[in-house]
Amino acid sequence: MGEFDLIRRHFQRAPSNDTGAVVLGIGDDCALLQPSPGHQLAISSDMLVAGRHFFADVDPEALGHKALAVNLSDLAAMGARPLGFTLALALPHADDDWLAAFARGLFALADAHACPLVGGDTTRGPLNICITVFGEVQPGQALRRDAARVGDDLYVSGRTGEARLALEHLRGSDWAAAAHGADLRARLERPTPRNALGALLAAAGARAAIDLSDGLTGDLGHILRASGVGAEMDVDALPVAPALQALPEAQRLECLLAGGDDYELLFTAPPASRAAIAAAAASSQTPVTRIGCIVADTGLRLLDVNGQPVTFDARSFDHFA
Ligand code: ADP
Ligand code: MG
Repeated sequence: MGEFDLIRRHFQRAPSNDTGAVVLGIGDDCALLQPSPGHQLAISSDMLVAGRHFFADVDPEALGHKALAVNLSDLAAMGARPLGFTLALALPHADDDWLAAFARGLFALADAHACPLVGGDTTRGPLNICITVFGEVQPGQALRRDAARVGDDLYVSGRTGEARLALEHLRGSDWAAAAHGADLRARLERPTPRNALGALLAAAGARAAIDLSDGLTGDLGHILRASGVGAEMDVDALPVAPALQALPEAQRLECLLAGGDDYELLFTAPPASRAAIAAAAASSQTPVTRIGCIVADTGLRLLDVNGQPVTFDARSFDHFA
């Protein structure tokens, strides 16, 4: 199978999810996208490297899902609507079964989000997947990291920590997870990007947002630094997945606060928007929990339900640390 056969067989298809933005898709030197009049483009790339972001023997269908999910999640965190994506793929060899499964996972999620594949690049090399997503957002409506204001509420979607527990489980650590292995593994390998929620947040009054890829406290730090503010977070308000409940306190906090790979949205909104945020959560069928507030004193203070300080060495994942 040559390079062009491979592309034709696995990645070139009649768009079943054309949003009207794709003027020209796969097959020419460039794709042509037509955003809605007056909108801004939102663009993001994420690369997944075998051995670093996933195990080389991971289920290829799940890998296809995750490679796109982490990119869609960036659009969600910006409040942008997906227009399409490109796929740059390095493969050690062309394995038809592997590619078919990868494409199945990829296109199932692409179709669910009306986000067509419009181009890419294919080369031989160590397994490496780089996706770039293109989205659109109305001027002034993007949920930027520098937009949090003193007095804002702090919210998180869904639950954090399960992906981290699944990773410990796969690594064979003794963290108690046996009973929840399959559910947990899905949280790690098939994350759900929160695009339906993200698309509603700006209109509901949300200000700043980030998607949680490197751990809650670390990612919150990006909002706090960019906005020049601090936060107080009620650790006991965080939703705790059943699989995490049996963990010793220190491990539970590590998962909840620094887990990584959650792909939930962390965002701020003024208290006047509480009802609108709750409505956005309901209409996107995405649970949202208020976990703290933005304050003028910089830095992050973790408190328990009684307002007492919680000590936790907040680190987040950094590839070069
Ligand atoms: P060029 O030499 O102009 O870079 P290529 O030969 O690399 O073009 O690719 C031919 C066409 O196939 C282009 O439209 C490109 O966007 C598309 N393409 C290549 N690889 C992929 C892929 N993995 N997924 C989707 N489209 C791809
Ligand atoms: Mg090329």
